[in-house]
Amino acid sequence: MKKNNKVKKIMEVLQIAQLGNNILRCQAKPVINIWHENLQQIIDNLIATVIATNGVGIAAPQVLMNDRLFIIASRPNLRYPQAPKMGPKAIINPRLISHSEDREKGWEACLSVPGMRGLVPRYRVINVEYTNREGKLEKQELTGFVARIFQHEYDHLEGLVFLDRVESTRDLMTEDEYQKQIIQLRN
Ligand code: ZN
Repeated sequence: MKKNNKVKKIMEVLQIAQLGNNILRCQAKPVINIWHENLQQIIDNLIATVIATNGVGIAAPQVLMNDRLFIIASRPNLRYPQAPKMGPKAIINPRLISHSEDREKGWEACLSVPGMRGLVPRYRVINVEYTNREGKLEKQELTGFVARIFQHEYDHLEGLVFLDRVESTRDLMTEDEYQKQIIQLRN
């Protein structure tokens, strides 16, 4: 039997659209063909990019793709030392089915808004539905930080960034000041 020459997968770190780029303000389009040959490669590239940049999530519009697709890749890192550890997950055509009444505020940042943090209210518990990278429909209840990532990334598919969600411009901080005040307080 001829052995498949295993081609080494090349994962590319992609360039990230910055605030002001119009794609961040567009509504993304549903992924129609989950089995398109490029989709798995795009997902791998998004994962490589979010890991290389110490992110915990990244949405397709942030790499100039107008598709309803994002990655959640929560793990403790320099930017989010308290993040829970989980493997990177591709979320395709997500839907927010229901959410808790209560919201909680937490500091968010965004690879497309470098150098800034904002105190953003998000639903504490959400029930979501999405297609995974194997093409299966998944239903999940997400809470806390992971629910926050989901809502942040979902917003990107709707043309929103976290700056649109802060209640006051006084809830904004530079990343440097955040590191000084918030991270050092914890240690
Ligand atoms: Zn973002």
